[in-house]
Amino acid sequence: MTFEAQLAEELSADQIIDEILHKNETARACLTCSFQAEDMIVLDLLRKRVPDIPVLFLETGYHFAETYEYRSRMGQKWSLNLVNVIPEKTVKQQESELGILYRIDPTQCCQLRKVEPLMLSLEPYRVWFTGLRREQSPTRRNLKQVENHRLPSGTELLKVSPLAAWDWKQVWRYTVDNEIDYLPLYDRGYLSIGCEPCTKIPHAGADPRSGRWGGAKLECGIHTFSKPE
Ligand code: SF4
Repeated sequence: MTFEAQLAEELSADQIIDEILHKNETARACLTCSFQAEDMIVLDLLRKRVPDIPVLFLETGYHFAETYEYRSRMGQKWSLNLVNVIPEKTVKQQESELGILYRIDPTQCCQLRKVEPLMLSLEPYRVWFTGLRREQSPTRRNLKQVENHRLPSGTELLKVSPLAAWDWKQVWRYTVDNEIDYLPLYDRGYLSIGCEPCTKIPHAGADPRSGRWGGAKLECGIHTFSKPE
């Protein structure tokens, strides 16, 4: 296990971010951001330290109108260095060539619109910040705050999830205490928000990510294509 992986587990979100930024080139760090509450907290912590940190948004073409509006609003309000990660084909091209993949093959749809574009976009970076938390899903139970990952190309990078140990109450408390505007879809009962066709309001008490993909899967693939080493 590397020094970073040993070090980070018990530190607070602030401390981990400081430690990682101190030991790595800030110019080679980025954040993936779907503009959910957790991402906005990590972004809030990062932007105070690295105001121009690249904020990678997977622009699948299938997001809620509210997400696009919120992304634009916060991009202006926080002067974000927003990087829209675009798939090779437009929605129109993909649907005319392959059909409505989110209905017939959501795994392929996520692969084409999220995973492959992200893998390419991460190549220049050596630190990848995320808003992942262990509590979000059974697939994230073993998440570590700092993990060493290798992209399919062989590129190595640190995947850093400062909020890994946080629960939902902590997320909401930080959001309220720091007066962070949040995605309005939370007020309608959504707890985990991605592309509109694949996001439903979860049943009361159910796993927050159970409303994604009709419960058929829990991950789109962007957090499973590379494994911790
Ligand atoms: S979440 Fe749904 S619409 Fe978005 S890329 Fe995946 S399958 Fe396609």
